[in-house]
Amino acid sequence: MAHAGHTPKRFSLLHINKLFVKNGAINLNDFFTLTDITDLVIQKQPWVTEHIEELKQTLQIRIEPIQAIGRHCNNPFVCDFKTYCWGNLLDKDKVFNLSYGKDKIWRLYNDGILNLADIPDDFELSHRQSCQVNGQRTGAAHIDSPSINQFLNKAVYPLYFFDFETVNSVVPVLDGTSPFQQIGFQYSLHIVSNINEEPLHKEFLARAEYFTNPQVLNPRQAMINQMKIDFGTTGSIVSYNASFEKGVIEKLAIDFPDDKLFLRDLNNRMIDLLDVFRNAWYYVPQFGKSASIKDVLPALVPNLSYKTLAINNGDLANKTYMSMIDGTFKGDVHETRNMRKEE
Ligand code: SF4
Repeated sequence: MAHAGHTPKRFSLLHINKLFVKNGAINLNDFFTLTDITDLVIQKQPWVTEHIEELKQTLQIRIEPIQAIGRHCNNPFVCDFKTYCWGNLLDKDKVFNLSYGKDKIWRLYNDGILNLADIPDDFELSHRQSCQVNGQRTGAAHIDSPSINQFLNKAVYPLYFFDFETVNSVVPVLDGTSPFQQIGFQYSLHIVSNINEEPLHKEFLARAEYFTNPQVLNPRQAMINQMKIDFGTTGSIVSYNASFEKGVIEKLAIDFPDDKLFLRDLNNRMIDLLDVFRNAWYYVPQFGKSASIKDVLPALVPNLSYKTLAINNGDLANKTYMSMIDGTFKGDVHETRNMRKEE
């Protein structure tokens, strides 16, 4: 622009203010934050002059430049060519899939070790990593019965198996909420009252119109009201990756002070099933580096797979529900709300 005679006086970055809390109509001056980055841009400008010819020449060449893989493939973002350049290094049995591997991965790779099974015995590994490497070598499961027993001993009947779905829209819909805030709109609850009892299923799915018309009933309050009916006052609440559920509930406790004792009691009773798998108290090689329920469930219970569900992940649930809130949903609302499993 300077060369064209229009030198900018200031450079600014306009971004969303995550601390913004909606209260009525959204004032864009509060919703966005304008950050002056003039000094930073001016500091970086010589880089362009220094490199522009080199970059232009790279664009002209007709043969593929030779570039070794490295940390630059993931940083500052995952490169689009990764599948091409990395090839089979992305396979489950390779060191790049070492669980929480970070620097160890590059140390191994730079030493010419590509397969998990070839990691030398004296290479320092965490407990989970050792289980993974051993699983690759032998195909054996690792079961730490004392730790699993300790975990199970914490669980008090009745057990409440609990999972939230949330929406987290950039532009908040409800007063009192912020950009990207996780707002629960659905939960699934299976209650097992004793060891030999069948689970009893309860569920909640807020009416989408409560989001646009919260004066009738705020959907967050509707969820709390239903939770008060569904949850008894004793028994453990079991979640997978409970920090997420706890975070959503704690935000409800802050925003709905009349119910905070009830909500905080739920959080105090929560135990995290992820602990069993993240700590590799139970590990089978099919988990690979992951302790996510998406990998753990099909490995342990192959007939229970997310793949058979019509709405089979949180993102899709989130998008579908948001389209019901903003009125862009095209299908049959009643049918979709009741959809569970495709036969
Ligand atoms: S994956 Fe991308 S960054 Fe990595 S070597 Fe290939 S082209 Fe370069």
